[in-house]
Amino acid sequence: MSRDPLELLREDLRGFAGYGSARKEALAGEVWLNANEAPTANMADRDGACRRYPDPQPASLRSALARLYQVPEAQLLVGRGSDEGIDLLVRAFCAPGRDAVLTTPPVFGMYAVSARLQGAPLVEVALVDGEDGFAVDLERIAAQALATRTKLVFLCSPGNPTSNLVDRDALLALAARLDGRALVVVDEAYIEFADAASLAADVSAQRNLVVLRTLSKAHALAAARIGCVIADEVVIEALRRCQAPYPVPTPCADLAIVALQSPALAQTRARVADVVRERERMLQALTRLAGVRRVYPSQGNFLLVRCADAEGAFHALLSAGIVVRDQRAAPQLGDALRITIGAPEENDRVIAALDAVGAPHWRGRRRGEARSRQSSAPAGETA
Ligand SMILES: *Cc1c(COP(=O)(O)O)cnc(C)c1O
Repeated sequence: MSRDPLELLREDLRGFAGYGSARKEALAGEVWLNANEAPTANMADRDGACRRYPDPQPASLRSALARLYQVPEAQLLVGRGSDEGIDLLVRAFCAPGRDAVLTTPPVFGMYAVSARLQGAPLVEVALVDGEDGFAVDLERIAAQALATRTKLVFLCSPGNPTSNLVDRDALLALAARLDGRALVVVDEAYIEFADAASLAADVSAQRNLVVLRTLSKAHALAAARIGCVIADEVVIEALRRCQAPYPVPTPCADLAIVALQSPALAQTRARVADVVRERERMLQALTRLAGVRRVYPSQGNFLLVRCADAEGAFHALLSAGIVVRDQRAAPQLGDALRITIGAPEENDRVIAALDAVGAPHWRGRRRGEARSRQSSAPAGETA
């Protein structure tokens, strides 16, 4: 049996109760005059749903999410996107100037941002670029985590922007190895697009494992800001005490509840299937283009593309009215763009614009440049 993850909580927060909001008091009444709310609704609030403070964890949303992710409600915290989950984990588990956050660059930037804001040291273990794409170096991650005061290990699976999966058994082995030392947080923002199951069900047996899920990507609700932390119930309780008093706005909760009913869920499944089909079409099409050096296989809703001339490709896309993510500032990705899979006609426009970049009259010149740039790249860039 794995250890009680509360041992890892910041010591100074062990007895912390958080804010005692009016909604938390389990009182019965008909006349509610305990929260300084308005006596009548605003005319903009047609059904009066927003006059009163919301349930801190809206009950029907929480149960719908628990059903969706097939976990007990006690293992689930609803927040403002998985971004809030990341931030809460860092604040609750890392004492400033002491407890470290481990990340695996190139990776989603919010882990490092939250660490920085908390004053938590950052430990970085680079992803390894190989034949099959990027991979985590779990041996080095374990060694680095154990050699430092690492409290949180963030792994992104599928990875953003590298789109690789982390093997489930290897991940569970890492969590077992770091039991009593660190939480292993698996960010599954893109898992719906992958050929792999979520690790949410493994949280019960491996108590230092944490899974992040979101409605922002597959469910097409980025602006609703609904995300979840799935973790041992003592971790959920601790995070809840660190969270804002009323984190989930009622209009967002209401929208999400409808999105989790069967018609919208069926639509989401179809949307995901469409994106996956388009992703594979784009992978084939982009791989054939002259200016494209490498397209990584993807388990997400985007493709990571290395270009002979990434700057030229980025600007050619911009001139065609298409905005993609320039990854050139990220370690190991000095020639890469991340392209989200759009609607079929949008994807066609991407292919056409990149095809024009690779047009014969300057293809030779750019290729030559790229080759010399590649060979002069500093060897230590990936370390
Ligand atoms: C998009 C993204 C998120 C953000 O999710 P929200 O729920 O919108 O906050 C989290 N993690 C990764 C890896 C992402 O790419």
